[in-house]
Amino acid sequence: MSADRDIDAWLAQRGITLPDSRSRARSTLEEAKIVNPKKARMSEQKLERAEAVLAERFFRVCSAPACQQAASTSGREPLMVDPRSHCESCGGSNNRRAGTDFVEACRRKGIRHVVIVGGSPAVREELESQLNGHIELRMVDGTERHTAEKARHNLEWADLILVWGATELHHKVSEHYTNVAPAVGRKVILVTRRGIAALLDAAMTHLKR
Ligand SMILES: [Zn+2]
Repeated sequence: MSADRDIDAWLAQRGITLPDSRSRARSTLEEAKIVNPKKARMSEQKLERAEAVLAERFFRVCSAPACQQAASTSGREPLMVDPRSHCESCGGSNNRRAGTDFVEACRRKGIRHVVIVGGSPAVREELESQLNGHIELRMVDGTERHTAEKARHNLEWADLILVWGATELHHKVSEHYTNVAPAVGRKVILVTRRGIAALLDAAMTHLKR
């Protein structure tokens, strides 16, 4: 005899806990003949297919406006999840939400090359993993020697430069980017707030102008 699983409990493990979301997910699984409308349980063998059907049909999303926006352009039906950790856009993380949002804002503005001046190695790593594949990123260590020539190359290459003053950033490094002609200065944004979400939010505010 094959094992079976309580359907509602299985859905809840995927963040599908709200009554509306649960009934939509259930009726989708019923239409696909994966679950029987009269039963509270389904066989273990069908779990994989159930997962695939839900993933194809729905975009699991939290209530954050940026995530709702991402869901509405996904081509899939938005399905509200709770807790937010199940959100496909942000995974419950403000940093990830800001990353998704930033990528979208850059895409709209045709921004492909971004230079970030400052930030710790850990933050650099997180930003690279979030933005990679969408945006080409160059990170400048704010504590190391940075030549005028390197800065000039970055200034030419970049569509957008974020000078992150809230982090350890030597004046000698930052002034390569802040002490520039106004035409170049237009793509340079000074950010004085801490945290990845704040950095990217400041950049998006600038892009919206
Ligand atoms: Zn979200």
